[in-house]
Amino acid sequence: MRILIVEDDRALGQAMAASLRHVEFAVDLVGTVAEALHLLVNEKVDALVLDLGLPDGDGYDVVRALRLGAHPVPVLILTARDAVEDRVHGFDLGADDYVVKPVALAELQARLRALIRRSKGSASTRLTLGNLMLDTVGKRAFVEGVPVDLSGREWAVLEYLMAHPRRILSKEQLIQAIADLGQELSENAIEAYVHRLRAKLEGSAVLIRTVRGLGYMLEEHV
Ligand code: CA
Repeated sequence: MRILIVEDDRALGQAMAASLRHVEFAVDLVGTVAEALHLLVNEKVDALVLDLGLPDGDGYDVVRALRLGAHPVPVLILTARDAVEDRVHGFDLGADDYVVKPVALAELQARLRALIRRSKGSASTRLTLGNLMLDTVGKRAFVEGVPVDLSGREWAVLEYLMAHPRRILSKEQLIQAIADLGQELSENAIEAYVHRLRAKLEGSAVLIRTVRGLGYMLEEHV
């Protein structure tokens, strides 16, 4: 899951980013409206944490631009502005959640998970294929109920594959899904994660198939 934080208070932004990365979100951090819009046009993110008071404009401008373009990304406004009118304005523009600073980092994580779940059209926290089950809240994978030990990046790759079963996913899509901004992730790295996942899923009823020249597909063994 990839989160974009738009926050011009560098220390706060970095603290939030560190806390979210710690629970295996991929996080991009920017400090202006312009950077936020540029990134949202060019990259896929799963949720947005948005400050309102930004050096080159207002966070509301970002929400407005997104919704005018029918951009579906869930938006959590995080601001010091606690007036009811501000909250109402935020929701009217199309924000999905509104949190007044200071926020406990654990609460921020929980709210983002809830937003992402809702945006994926399902309240379910489990992904299942064959005898493989992912608990997306606890971030654990099970084969026949037995936990599989995964690194953070392996988890992220597997979660993305499980969210799109029986579909061909390119290495570029996988990179987009799990990479942090400015942290280059190569196709070789994706190949390595897939290689390790295959080893760890050996004996399960699911298989990460290589589709030559196109990418990977997660499917059940036949
Ligand atoms: Ca600010």
